[in-house]
This record gives sequence, C-alpha cells and structure tokens, in this order.
Amino acid sequence: MMSYEVDYIYEAPCKCGKNFVVEESSSNDWLQRRVCTYINCKECAEKYHLETSNGLLYMIPNGETILVSSGNNWTVGGSKSFEEYIAKQFRLQEIKNAYEVICNATTYSKINNGTARRIMRCHKDWNNTMKMSIVRESIKSSIEKYGNFKNSKDVTDEEYKKNKAEMERRKPDILKRSYGPIELKRRN
Ligand SMILES: [Zn+2]
Repeated sequence: MMSYEVDYIYEAPCKCGKNFVVEESSSNDWLQRRVCTYINCKECAEKYHLETSNGLLYMIPNGETILVSSGNNWTVGGSKSFEEYIAKQFRLQEIKNAYEVICNATTYSKINNGTARRIMRCHKDWNNTMKMSIVRESIKSSIEKYGNFKNSKDVTDEEYKKNKAEMERRKPDILKRSYGPIELKRRN
C-alpha cells in the first residue's frame, strides 16, 4: 500500500464550539486522492454526523437523514433471469423502444440505440447468445412479465419520487435541529 500524505486541511468550528469539523485531502505518489470529512469532536460526534445537501455541509442529528434513498436497489445479483434483470435496469417504455429497434435490425452491429445495445449485451451475459430471434423472444417475454417484477425500474423510480417528496417535506424541520451550513476554511 502506497501511503497517503495530507495536502491540505479545511476546517470549521463544530456545533459545541470546542473543536472542529475537518476536511482532509491526501494524495499518494500515484496521484490518487482521497478526501475525508469528519467531526473531530467526541461530544458532537455522539450527537451528530455529516451530510451534504445541495453542496452544503451540515451536522445532522444521529438517527436522522436528509438524504433520499435511491429507490433503485441494486440487488441485480438477486435477479433470477434476464427478464427480471432488464426490468430492474430499464423502464418499461425503454424496453419497448429497444424491442422495436431490435426487431428492425438484422445484426447487433447495425444497432445505434444505446439502450438496445446494452440489452443485447445483457442477454449475452445471461443467455450466452446475441442471436436476434432469441433476443427478441426474451425481450418480448420481459415486456409481458414486467408488471410482475416488484423491483422493476418503473416501481423503484416511483418510490424514489415519493421518498424525495417526503424528504423535501421533512427537511426544513430536520435542518432546524441540525448545524450548518458549515463553511470550511483552509487551515493556516
Ligand atoms: Zn463539538
């Protein structure tokens, strides 16, 4: 392991005022950089953690969050079939559009549509073939079964929208009990 050296430190007083919120940027000889932001105060860290919202840094009460869960749970490994896998990756309408493109194409190399190409490659991963007639059948089957997949992209996108709306509603109250936005300044 190449060791990291600290290049700069930004900081700002924590909520209790006795210590600091610190942003530490380090790099190694391969110019790999890592930035680490933390509450360097035992008292505050027991009550708060850091979160960023719209690019602004806050100390948020532990147990609360202003982050929206993505909705799209990437339990792709849990897919049992190609049909389920692409239902998780794409909206129904996207799959339908890709299906049309693939139905009108003779070979993979003639396809320009990005989604259609990705779906073809997924099919190769799952079913080990890009034979157009077989791919078409599989996609058709995914379209027919789409509504049965509980984690389809349509469902998770909808959940995300709901979570986001709910979060926007709760956020002002959480921010009132938070500390910030925190303005970090370079340590001299
Ligand atoms: Zn503190």
